[in-house]
Amino acid sequence: MRIDDLPIRDDLRGQTPYGAPQLDVAVRLNTNENSYALPDDVVEAIGKAMQAELRDLNRYPDRDAIALRTALADYLGHGLTVANVWAANGSNEVQQQLLQAFGGPGRSALGFGPSYSMHPLLALGTGTRWIGALRDPDFSLNPDKAVAALEEHDPDLVFLCSPNNPTGTALDPDVITAVLEAARGMVIVDEAYAEFAREGTLSALTLLPEHPRLVVSRTMSKAFGFAGGRLGYFAAGPAVVDAVQLVRLPYHLSSLTQAAARAAVAQRDALLATVEAIKEQRDRIVSTLRERGHRVADSDANFVLFGVGGDQKIAWQRLLDQGVLIRDVGLAGWLRVTAGTPAETDAFLQATEALK
Ligand code: PMP
Repeated sequence: MRIDDLPIRDDLRGQTPYGAPQLDVAVRLNTNENSYALPDDVVEAIGKAMQAELRDLNRYPDRDAIALRTALADYLGHGLTVANVWAANGSNEVQQQLLQAFGGPGRSALGFGPSYSMHPLLALGTGTRWIGALRDPDFSLNPDKAVAALEEHDPDLVFLCSPNNPTGTALDPDVITAVLEAARGMVIVDEAYAEFAREGTLSALTLLPEHPRLVVSRTMSKAFGFAGGRLGYFAAGPAVVDAVQLVRLPYHLSSLTQAAARAAVAQRDALLATVEAIKEQRDRIVSTLRERGHRVADSDANFVLFGVGGDQKIAWQRLLDQGVLIRDVGLAGWLRVTAGTPAETDAFLQATEALK
């Protein structure tokens, strides 16, 4: 029996699931993870925190994850408190909950591609109609164009991604402000890569006090090196936190997840110490590829989008043949590579020599 033989929803027929390849190769630079393993003292702290929960696993966890949300609000600063912050199993789940609460059948969400491929998939899964507007050919987005798309489509939700995956560059704050002023519905700014932004890049967190329909989505998967821990969160007005509580599953964050994430946030200085080293490798990838004549998008993230001057599928395979796994995001002529350790950058830069 195949999927199509089942009485599956019509709008899911013929769809393919999200699927970055998880291949066992030496150099894995394809999912924008943090390449650095957690330091021993952080491992110990997380282990202790989880151990302390084990005897009470007969009980449900704190449904509202108050201690963790308080710690995340403290990390974000900007005067935010527990009432402003919501957490779930990865920012994918956070965004799914936002779509469940504010999208759904008869409603629409709009994003500006190329951008994060899960935004349309989350819309699909929640029965929300997806409207794919476009960035300019140089991947930038100007306020007038963004506002024109909103006027044309009048979506219930707008997704902005800054720094944008897969292109890497942060949005001009004028675009975010213009969208907030023009939008009737919710505006979600996905800042999964905020900690890697270059000097002077403004976070949308600064806009929260004046904009009750703004939601800033963050994750511990990237800068914190906590992708396996699955912890994403958002900051918004307290009413938005009340709204997602209507759709979240009861006890969606296990006691083990909450304990591990609390310990990780408490150890944030040690975990975020990798950010500067990763930014150095990112900048090294950008400058080296530019010196070699590649087109390279500016990056405020822990990855770089670069042109390969031909069929990107062939270039991707050539790198894989040399043990370097990067990402073909389906953009003709472009590939995306995650910035990892200096040794991984060496391997990547050596493998890309063959592309010239
Ligand atoms: N947003 C963006 C822009 C991403 O690139 C990713 C991870 N690839 C996520 C959200 C989801 O991350 P997570 O669910 O691990 O928090």
